[in-house]
Amino acid sequence: MPLTVLFSASDADWDDYKDILPNALAQVGLDAQVTRSAADPALVDYIVYAPTGGLTDFAPFTRARAVLSLWAGVEKIVGTPSLTQPLVRMSDPEGLTAGMVEWVTGHVLRHHLGIDAHRAAKPGEWVATVPPLAKDRRVCILGLGELGAACAAMLTQLNFQVSGWSRRPKELAGVACFSGADGLGTALRDADIVVLLLPQTPDTENLMNAARLNILPRGAVIVNPGRGPLIDDEALLAALDSGQISHATLDVFRVEPLPADHPFWTHPNVTVTPHIASATRAPSAARRIAKTIERDQAGAPLPGLVDRSAGY
Ligand code: NDP
Repeated sequence: MPLTVLFSASDADWDDYKDILPNALAQVGLDAQVTRSAADPALVDYIVYAPTGGLTDFAPFTRARAVLSLWAGVEKIVGTPSLTQPLVRMSDPEGLTAGMVEWVTGHVLRHHLGIDAHRAAKPGEWVATVPPLAKDRRVCILGLGELGAACAAMLTQLNFQVSGWSRRPKELAGVACFSGADGLGTALRDADIVVLLLPQTPDTENLMNAARLNILPRGAVIVNPGRGPLIDDEALLAALDSGQISHATLDVFRVEPLPADHPFWTHPNVTVTPHIASATRAPSAARRIAKTIERDQAGAPLPGLVDRSAGY
């Protein structure tokens, strides 16, 4: 009997995956049918999930071996009481990770090179300030998981002084790694540019509050492609106004789309990007999903399994 894969995501996602996903499953030799709605939830083997699909009750899916999230961030689903099936987050080096590395590198280089000052220069303003070399610029990445570690590796290759912070101790080549509450203070104290690539969990919410923003060297830059609630918005605006933070490039927000009257839109030292730092790309993500199901069917451990107690 073919496996039944329920695809619970937006209509736009369905358009992207409706051919690609069955093909990817066939490519790895799986006999599977991908369906947009399940007549009998008890016969579903896997659920491909995004919050935009509207599925909230997982209890009827008694046979489902796993819920496979199309998103890397799982804060919207991880606490769902009826979700007893294993939850797998999206991890896709070819698509999601590659996109994030490009976005983070681009925005770090923009601030490192002082590109904005030249864009703002008036005719005749010949201020020849030579930027430092990357080896003299300190970049700290909060979150050294799939995305943070890949960004750290790229920035290290470019010769930046890279540090990073994670929940558990880590060792990454060329990166000064810190962990735990004490480690955070040390990491922030020496950071010219801070990149937030943490998941949203009860432990990380408002992590960048007034006190922590004040630990940073004066004039530090914040780049946040993680999640909006990682930063206390009011504290950030105050730090921008005082010059403690010289610029914030923000891709994610507490409310998305960011409301038109939010002060971030008009603040001269904030760059708003509309949650485009990276995205799950259907072709490589479909291959990833197919591989995950193939592994599970072969009895191998599920890659990217979410630790519910940690919330990510
Ligand atoms: P991972 O789960 O691979 O990595 C998360 C990292 O955060 C790990 O290093 C983890 O530590 C660390 N961490 C978690 N909690 C804490 C804590 N309390 N204190 C210190 N460190 C902590 O996630 P990804 O790298 O794949 O993704 C990170 C986030 O990026 C996603 O959760 C999502 O919110 C966001 N994202 C944004 C996108 C965008 O387009 N803007 C696209 C994709 C993702 P440890 O290593 O010890 O587990």
